[in-house]
Amino acid sequence: MPNKIIIAIDGYSSCGKSTLAKALATKLSYVFIDTGAMYRAIALYFLRNGIDFENEIEINNALQNIKLNFVYNQATLKSDMVLNGENVEAEIREMRVSEKVSEVATIGAVRDFAVAQQQVMGESKGIVMDGRDIGTVVFPTAELKIFVTADPAIRVERRFLELQATNPTIRKQEIEENLQHRDLMDTTRERSPLKQAADAIVLDNSQMTREEQFNLALSWALAKIG
Ligand code: C5P
Repeated sequence: MPNKIIIAIDGYSSCGKSTLAKALATKLSYVFIDTGAMYRAIALYFLRNGIDFENEIEINNALQNIKLNFVYNQATLKSDMVLNGENVEAEIREMRVSEKVSEVATIGAVRDFAVAQQQVMGESKGIVMDGRDIGTVVFPTAELKIFVTADPAIRVERRFLELQATNPTIRKQEIEENLQHRDLMDTTRERSPLKQAADAIVLDNSQMTREEQFNLALSWALAKIG
């Protein structure tokens, strides 16, 4: 397909953004970037190294030592997050990272660091990127912007089923509290708060199957690609 575009997918935590983004990228032979994984990897580095989230010098020094990459995993058919050469895909999904990531994502220097890399990734277009600020800050001129929402109870249920596979002792209440906490932090932070871009299309997938959601988004993408 000659006319490559940028597809920006934003929305609340656990709305199925990454699943949709990955399916679209696969179908269109585009690059898929899960920007949440980048913030999670930075949070993991900060936690491992005891970085004080209030200390600008420590934060800037830490960021200089962080190298982020994605590597394709043939077994899961997804990209895994690599932090300084180590595959951290499983670890960044753990609760201890989920609990701190939104705090780390409020830090201006962290956002500058991540956004600069994301913008380079989109230079030649042909990319589907999901996150919280993709349509508003990272690619404000993206040709297609989708803002995904879903009923909070449905989001908790979906996340519970997903996390239970690797953590059988996880409690629904823990997940519910974490999603509420992250949504609040993400929508109220000073820098790049989560909000719908004026020209984004809202996709409420509460009552949709993955396939229905995919077909709808694909039709929007094909209309833009022409
Ligand atoms: O997408 P995911 O839920 O894995 O993202 C983890 C966290 O990273 C979010 O709760 C949010 O605080 C932060 N994030 C962000 N901007 C993005 C992507 C994620 O602030 N573009």
